[in-house]
Amino acid sequence: MLMLRKKKTKKHFSYGDRIMHEKPLVYSCSGCSSAAQMANYIAVQLDRNGIAEMSCIVGVGGNVKKLVKTALSGRKIITIDGCPLACSRACLSNHSINADGHFELTALGVKKRDHEDFDLEQARDILRGIQKKVRELEGVASTTDQYEKV
Ligand code: SF4
Repeated sequence: MLMLRKKKTKKHFSYGDRIMHEKPLVYSCSGCSSAAQMANYIAVQLDRNGIAEMSCIVGVGGNVKKLVKTALSGRKIITIDGCPLACSRACLSNHSINADGHFELTALGVKKRDHEDFDLEQARDILRGIQKKVRELEGVASTTDQYEKV
């Protein structure tokens, strides 16, 4: 039986009325604290909402060839870290990669607590603000630590 396969085409997505060929990449830390888990949650939501494409920071930190290649692809990069230790930013900087936008959650009022989950309402609020900033990223050289709640 003849199977016809649809030719894969490059996905496009829209930022307002402009069409971009590739979404920005988003990386987050995903440590054990409430802040780290919130960072991971926000990055996952950006991916699921079609705002950015999440890639695995642990692969970059672990020097996994395929994931380092993605990080070095030249696409815009967003990092979301739970605290000032900025683990995802540090993983990228080991490969001389600087994020176009970096968000540090404790600077946005998030408490870093061990053995506790994050506040979902707060996470959704911050997600809305970050989404807005990511949409503004196109054509912006750097949004490092810039953030405004919506
Ligand atoms: S950036 Fe902070 S919260 Fe995130 S994994 Fe590193 S130490 Fe944990």
